[in-house]
Amino acid sequence: MIPAAFEYARAESIDHAIELLGGADDAKILAGGHSLLPLMKTRLAQPSLLVDISRIGDLSYVREDGDMVAIGALTRHHDVANSELLQQVAPIVADTASRIGDPQVRHVGTIGGSIAHADPAGDMGTVMVALGAQFAISAAAGATRTVAAGDFFQGLFQADLAANEVLTEIRVPKTSGGWSYLKFNRRAIDWAMVGVAAVQQNGSAAVALTNMGETPLRAAGVEEALAGGADPATASARADEGAAPPSDAFGSAEYRREVSKVLVRRALEETLG
Ligand SMILES: Cc1cc2nc3c(=O)[nH]c(=O)nc-3n(C[C@H](O)[C@H](O)[C@H](O)COP(=O)(O)OP(=O)(O)OC[C@H]3O[C@@H](n4cnc5c(N)ncnc54)[C@H](O)[C@@H]3O)c2cc1C
Repeated sequence: MIPAAFEYARAESIDHAIELLGGADDAKILAGGHSLLPLMKTRLAQPSLLVDISRIGDLSYVREDGDMVAIGALTRHHDVANSELLQQVAPIVADTASRIGDPQVRHVGTIGGSIAHADPAGDMGTVMVALGAQFAISAAAGATRTVAAGDFFQGLFQADLAANEVLTEIRVPKTSGGWSYLKFNRRAIDWAMVGVAAVQQNGSAAVALTNMGETPLRAAGVEEALAGGADPATASARADEGAAPPSDAFGSAEYRREVSKVLVRRALEETLG
């Protein structure tokens, strides 16, 4: 439970962080540390340099940006959950943040850390995929790029994010239709054994799944069935199409497949009802 030795540097700005990241091939960004430090303590991660971005003040905000809401990557789950703007115009984001972990996790963990970590059991990535969010990324020499949430998650804990890049902003569309994020877990503090995000946008419903594969997944079969006029009960039968859920101490893959169908039906009833 003691991490391997590492160097520590505190970044004063995004550019400074990118410069510091160039100091070691295996350098890692430290934001809230709630995912990274447990990995380091168990030595599943052994970066030789930690670049602490947690004091970069201008990366913590929630603000309106036309028909989107921009959220700074260092905004803590607690602040996302309590943002009146998000509660009004993108309520699924605020509600999901309010149900991540426990108060300690929500006061320290950041939305950017949660997304960059690309844990398939993480709640926020699934909501981002359902919403069609955009992620702003900064790289060396002032370069910036934007990646759609649907392209960002590439594999188990693998994101489209180079070692010397910083995720700076999350942009979510304003929504006015129904929505639901349901997670099935044994205790409130636990990660989702299965989660479902459903959002009604422009007359159709987007549905995405948590912990049903190596990345957050779009439930394409469900969306296709809904577009063809199926009711929630019929569409939800296709919830696990294309999914590859894990088997672990909490449940088998087969169990997760069944749970996903029940959760999708309930999420659609909430969203469309
Ligand atoms: C007890 C407990 C319960 C939890 N329960 C839940 C839960 O129910 N649902 C859920 O979704 N999550 C849960 N979590 C996970 C929690 O949400 C994440 O640990 C947290 O949000 C990660 O954010 P962080 O700022 O702590 O990231 P860090 O731990 O600091 O970083 C995580 C990873 O992302 C990278 N990174 C961080 N910020 C950036 C950035 N801006 N740009 C590029 N890379 C970056 C880091 O290098 C690292 O690889 C739980 C965690 C704990 C400890």
